[in-house]
Amino acid sequence: MLRFQVRTGFLIIILILRIVAIALYVSSNIDANRAQGLAGLAGFTLIFLFFTVFLDLYHYCVWWHYTPYLDTTCCCCRAWKHARYLPYILVGAYRNEHIWGDESCSNNPCPSRGLEHIATFHSSGYQPQARWTDLPKPEPPFDPKQKLKPQPTYIGFHTTKADSAVKIAKGGFLPSSQGMIGPGVYFARSLEATIGKVGAAGGFGAWIIAEVNMGKVLVVHRHSRDQDIARTGEWHAEYDTCYCIHPDDNLDEFCIKDPTTQIVRWVTVIEENDDPNVKQLGLDNEFESTKCGCF
Ligand SMILES: [Zn+2]
Ligand SMILES: [Zn+2]
Ligand SMILES: [Zn+2]
Repeated sequence: MLRFQVRTGFLIIILILRIVAIALYVSSNIDANRAQGLAGLAGFTLIFLFFTVFLDLYHYCVWWHYTPYLDTTCCCCRAWKHARYLPYILVGAYRNEHIWGDESCSNNPCPSRGLEHIATFHSSGYQPQARWTDLPKPEPPFDPKQKLKPQPTYIGFHTTKADSAVKIAKGGFLPSSQGMIGPGVYFARSLEATIGKVGAAGGFGAWIIAEVNMGKVLVVHRHSRDQDIARTGEWHAEYDTCYCIHPDDNLDEFCIKDPTTQIVRWVTVIEENDDPNVKQLGLDNEFESTKCGCF
């Protein structure tokens, strides 16, 4: 991504210099015929330069507003908290450090709440964030200008079928009517956990990474009596989120009561099998010609 920005900035600078040059030729005192010839030549190359800049911006747009095969609507028809679709090629296991020239993120635990960052660097391999109960949650300073106290947020992974993920991108999340720890929308703490779960149930096609406002959290333990109580959903009366601690901390899950207020934003990744667009647009071999890292 940075490469596009640098390149486009570079081209725009050349463009400006070229225009200045033309202006200088025209206004200079050297013999009129020669000046006109030079200005004409510069004007001619200007057209090509404009074209290159336009192509670059278009190219950047293809990445930034990437739309998978299954979604045939435009971005204004989607839920406004849906930040964007990420082409799977940008993500986790597909990332090729040599080609992308990006370093891995070496923060463990990583404090970042940037969803693109999480998708790219923390979706496979080690877990994305500390267990909720271990996460330092400093009391934010009270700001009288704000009505609500800012809350610490958490990252949740949600796997689902590709067409369901597209529906969610348009209409938002719908809470389930029941579940292991009651009704609500379920998230896992790591992608690994969701793959294990959904994979066993017979495949999935997409995953969602969401930044979640946890609110008041009830913590329960898996296979315990408090989990049985949580299943009834009675916690909705007093809490916003139920966080379930699993013996294997990678498998922790949490359930939020109200997705419309608690989900801050989310990104969607459609898996390779359900999204031929990445290959059709050639995004998968985008950087093969620039492996050495130059433009
Ligand atoms: Zn755009
Ligand atoms: Zn990180
Ligand atoms: Zn080179």
